[in-house]
Amino acid sequence: NIRKVNENYFGSYSSFGIHKDMISDKVRTEAYRDALLKNPSLLAGSVVMDVGCGTGILSLFAAQAGASRVVAVEASEKMAKVATKIAKDNKVFNDNEHNGVLEVAHSMVEELENSIQIQPHSVDVLVSEWMGYCLLYESMLSSVLYARDRWLKPGGAILPDTATMFVAGFGKGATSLPFWEDVYGFDMSSIGKEILEDTTRIPVVDVIEGRDLVTGPALLKAFDLATMKPDEVDFTETATLEPIESETEAKLCHGVVLWFDTGFTDRFCKENPTLLSTSPYTPPTHWAQTVLTFQEPISLAPDTVLAGADRSGAIGTEESPASSIHLRVSVARASEHRSIDVSLEAT
Ligand code: SAH
Repeated sequence: NIRKVNENYFGSYSSFGIHKDMISDKVRTEAYRDALLKNPSLLAGSVVMDVGCGTGILSLFAAQAGASRVVAVEASEKMAKVATKIAKDNKVFNDNEHNGVLEVAHSMVEELENSIQIQPHSVDVLVSEWMGYCLLYESMLSSVLYARDRWLKPGGAILPDTATMFVAGFGKGATSLPFWEDVYGFDMSSIGKEILEDTTRIPVVDVIEGRDLVTGPALLKAFDLATMKPDEVDFTETATLEPIESETEAKLCHGVVLWFDTGFTDRFCKENPTLLSTSPYTPPTHWAQTVLTFQEPISLAPDTVLAGADRSGAIGTEESPASSIHLRVSVARASEHRSIDVSLEAT
């Protein structure tokens, strides 16, 4: 059964459209390009492994950066063939007949020793674009950590080397309420309300803009990819969301948005560290953000007002706005292959 799910999963990557979407995402591709091309002391002469090479784009950057050997690993048969052809066309391919630096292994990284000659712990730089929606949804992080533990030299570089999840509260502007409130002058707000009720607690992938946030961001979870264990992706964390300072009136917080950054930090990218951010404050990426809507909106007092002064009623209502929101977020790998469950409690 796992095998079947895997076939579907890798089958889905065979469609070129997905690869076009990923490569066209400049925020994504240029962060990797900069990490690989602007850190010559890391890349020059190094042995690089690209976990899940797809078209081979990251491996091509590594070859361009002067790596002495690039092992591009790809589980999808079609993409492994395509990456081989592309490496040949760009004169970097390596096999018995070609003396470039880039080898393509058609294999799950977990079974790599069956398809190429490589010594355990012989890789200087492990690079992979493994991130999914909400960082962890359908992510191939466990495969990257497997590759790290089996193939990376002690002290070798992993790119990216950090992954951080953030959360912030959003207001009405990020919902479909304003649209349905005024449709050519007619009130269709009942539709907007129904949509909000339907999406309650179901994570939705959508682009949220910084101006629609009603709280500042809070750090939810930080992973150190050089040292983390695979089971760290199951976690429960708390965070406190503070209203945005400049607000002068109470605002409704309809839910929270989750996003992530990955860092190519100066631990390994000494010359030019870079950050790949999928935040609502920076240009959107193909990951967009992940939106979780509350059952009931929470009324937030601006920090200039004494919040919840009348403690007789419930806090967070219009009469008694909250001064901050306390969140408890749990993420757990679901039984379904590579999926995650996100649960949320707000008080
Ligand atoms: N590196 C490319 C593609 C990223 S998409 C780019 O940046 O554009 C991730 C790729 O990893 C897919 O092509 C998928 O088939 C492959 N993949 C996922 N899990 C893998 C595993 N365990 N072993 C090898 N390849 C894998």
